[in-house]
Amino acid sequence: MKLFFNTLTLLFITITTAQTNQKIYDIIDAVSAERIENDIQTLVNFGTRNTFSDTLSNTRGIGAARRWIKSEFETISSDCENCLDVFYQKDFVTKAGNKRVPHDAWIVNVVAIQKGTKYPNRFIIMSGDIDSRGSDTMNFTKDAPGANDNASGMAGTIEAARVLSKYEFENSIIYVGLSGEEQGLFGGGGLAKYAKEQGWDIIGILNNDMIGNIKGVDGVIDNRSFRIFSEPVPANETEKARTMRRFYGGEVDGVSRQLARYVHKTVKTYMPEMNPMMIYRLDRFGRGGHHRPFNDLGFAGIRIMEAHENYTQQHQDIREENGIKYGDVIEHVNFNYAKKLTTVNAINLASLAWAPSTPKTVAIGGIVEPSVKFKWSQVEGAIGYKIYWRDTTSPTWDKSRYVGNVLEFMLDGIVIDNYFFGIASVGKDGFESPVVFPNQIIR
Ligand SMILES: [Zn+2]
Repeated sequence: MKLFFNTLTLLFITITTAQTNQKIYDIIDAVSAERIENDIQTLVNFGTRNTFSDTLSNTRGIGAARRWIKSEFETISSDCENCLDVFYQKDFVTKAGNKRVPHDAWIVNVVAIQKGTKYPNRFIIMSGDIDSRGSDTMNFTKDAPGANDNASGMAGTIEAARVLSKYEFENSIIYVGLSGEEQGLFGGGGLAKYAKEQGWDIIGILNNDMIGNIKGVDGVIDNRSFRIFSEPVPANETEKARTMRRFYGGEVDGVSRQLARYVHKTVKTYMPEMNPMMIYRLDRFGRGGHHRPFNDLGFAGIRIMEAHENYTQQHQDIREENGIKYGDVIEHVNFNYAKKLTTVNAINLASLAWAPSTPKTVAIGGIVEPSVKFKWSQVEGAIGYKIYWRDTTSPTWDKSRYVGNVLEFMLDGIVIDNYFFGIASVGKDGFESPVVFPNQIIR
């Protein structure tokens, strides 16, 4: 009887710890608004971080800014027994052929890699931008503090590195400051290409661009909501994949969308006070960000940002006109909100870096049957798998069933036509991979 009780208790503990994990709450508590404020101030103090600004001065321009970011990552690394591999990744852009490039220059990204203990070649990436701009993106000498756009994202990325470098992860985490965002997404393009050449297995990129403004141009003040932008399906998908979708679904189930759902779910679980808004589009209407070059190559990538922008405070020279104060100055940044969005990143980086990989193949069948059958490929390190499904009109995976360590399963009494389905792998501490939408059909 006692043995039976103990088994039950153990089972109960296993189930409850699979729901939430204390380490994630510890990470939430460790993120500091004060350190983020200090870093934004330091970045603002470089006067301008326009990609084409001075690179020799130690106090002004993008050269000084990137050297400071690199040294900050190196300081973090020396506090964790050199757990970060810090380096510049750069590409050359020329004035010829680029209408927003005032002169030839190196586009220099600052990369810090926290190597995974088990899968060093599998990466989850957090990015912010080093560069800033004023009203005229070609003007590289005028002040352009870029406090919110995008010192906030850069400071958040550095802070996430400080917090997460205290832990060890099975997968690698990359913290990166990208450059050349404002003139053509050059830095993201360079790093995405580099990732492809290096054969990096990329889980996804969380691109942070403007995470500190809570007073919107629409008059709304909101320090709880934020946006997660994701494209519906990969931009480089094949014609065959497009044709298959007409018959089997998947119009809103590409890898980036699954990453967006993952972030949404983690936040709902661990930060219930927040209001994550999934936005079903690549980016804001007609505008871009540094996740896009990754999406272009088929990598999962999303943009995390404030819910309410203020256009008088971005891409504007500092001035006053008709009683309106223009400019992206530090006074408009809410550090506590930037801390919350940094925390959103940190808990998702950790969850993904502790999770097993996704099943490579997921097959589904059940045409004219009262049940749905699944078959998927085994994932190293997974202790089990979870089937997710949802109404076809729902944005989130609302229903799930943990099925244990098996590689096929039949869901009885459910008709395949009325839902979308997917499979996630589950690791030993309950950390899950993103959901995989079926990529094969069982006949
Ligand atoms: Zn911008």
